[in-house]
Amino acid sequence: MHEYSLAKEIANIVQEKIQSVEASNALSGITIKAGILSGVFPDSLSFYLEMIFQDMGWTNAKISIESVPAKYACQCGYIYVTEQLLSGCPLCNRFERHLIEGDQCIIETIEFYAKNSHKLKQ
Ligand SMILES: [Zn+2]
Repeated sequence: MHEYSLAKEIANIVQEKIQSVEASNALSGITIKAGILSGVFPDSLSFYLEMIFQDMGWTNAKISIESVPAKYACQCGYIYVTEQLLSGCPLCNRFERHLIEGDQCIIETIEFYAKNSHKLKQ
């Protein structure tokens, strides 16, 4: 249920944003970047987000979750991006490396409907 609590957390952040901008009352779209080492399953997160967003009344929100590969800096100085976590540096084959990116799950963008746009739908 890791993804469920994460989805709840994301919904809270969106809610706070909506209140702070006061320009809208509905989410139109959200982009999330999920690192492949973050332990987050995009399909599962998307499922819970959809469920929670429905409850919040953000029924038309477009949910986009991008998988972010791991980015490493090798001791040889080479920086590389990989989804092959079990192979070493493509240049020197070593595993002495430092993770730069790929272990986090972050919100990249949040978009809202303008309050006025609700008139267009009526
Ligand atoms: Zn290397």
